[in-house]
Amino acid sequence: MGGGVVVLGVMLCLSCLQLSAASSGDRRLDFRQCVENCEVTGCAVLWPPVEGGRHCIKGCVAEDGENSGTAGTKNGSSAKWRGPTEPWYLPLTQWDCLSECKYQCMVRVETRKKNEAQSHPPYRAEQYFGKWPFVRVLGIEEVASVVFSIFNLLAHAYGLWSFSKLAATLPRSSSPGSPSLYGFIGLWKLFGVISINSWVWSIVFHSRSTTFTERLDYVSAIISVGYNFLIALIRTLNFKQEALRAMISAPVIGFTSTHVLYMLFYDFDYGLNMKVCLVLAILQTTFWPIWAIAVKHPAMGKIFFVDFGMLAALGLEVFDFPPLFGLFDSHSLWHLATVPLVSCWWSFVQDDARWTSKVAALNDAKKPL
Ligand SMILES: [Zn+2]
Repeated sequence: MGGGVVVLGVMLCLSCLQLSAASSGDRRLDFRQCVENCEVTGCAVLWPPVEGGRHCIKGCVAEDGENSGTAGTKNGSSAKWRGPTEPWYLPLTQWDCLSECKYQCMVRVETRKKNEAQSHPPYRAEQYFGKWPFVRVLGIEEVASVVFSIFNLLAHAYGLWSFSKLAATLPRSSSPGSPSLYGFIGLWKLFGVISINSWVWSIVFHSRSTTFTERLDYVSAIISVGYNFLIALIRTLNFKQEALRAMISAPVIGFTSTHVLYMLFYDFDYGLNMKVCLVLAILQTTFWPIWAIAVKHPAMGKIFFVDFGMLAALGLEVFDFPPLFGLFDSHSLWHLATVPLVSCWWSFVQDDARWTSKVAALNDAKKPL
């Protein structure tokens, strides 16, 4: 979509690029020892022990005090361990013993580092498995990204709702029973639905990152980027006839579906995905401003605002920094920065609908009877 909204899709693609990559935090000896011990005992404890540093996970420690074991067995038997049972939100958010061990060990390592930094500053947070040490809120790790993803979703939902209201009032051709003079209503409504869908999965993924939620987030982002590319082509080339639209949609849909299937069933290649998203993004980012200048679009300022806004906000993704107050990392602020840009894009879509209808109505009136 707007170059900017495209880039937004791209960043959704990139958002979890490092998810499964090893980071300096998880390579630390104290962290690894803590997790290995916790996998067996169900207790996260650092060595040498620190005051208040021991945490036994209820549901991961056998009630008789024996070990739970890690491979879904208890003392070699096949009895499944239950997984963390307290607090109540842990089973609800699907935390298992291993992920809870990793979280508790990370918290302890970072707390010890903070304590040590009081005498030997500075304290530097480290990433674990590609993620910063966030303060978990009700089982949700990246709570700021979740909240700001909700804002984006709401911005799209409001944009879609206002556009639908406007679309109902747009003028129609003078011949009876004819369609609206703005021929892109359905396409923009579908844009709203696809964008909302991608933000739903962004919310889910940032709430709880698992392979499954990561796949859903990526796939919905790819669909969004592919569709944005398609709508950029159809709108800027002003394709109104169904035949033309079908002709241009077929290769784009074919390419996007092939890429999704390749990622899901052959090789979930983060690098390839980034390249695909970037190429599609760069192409459409250039389409919109060139088209706006060529047709002297009255709302071209909004296109430029969204494009430059997105570029500026991209800095937040490039200069990755640890979470402020344990909550606001650069990625979450990137999600916050896109909210006004989404609203601005929908405002452009409304302006486009009004302007195009007005021009078409004037041309319609000029036609000889
Ligand atoms: Zn994200």
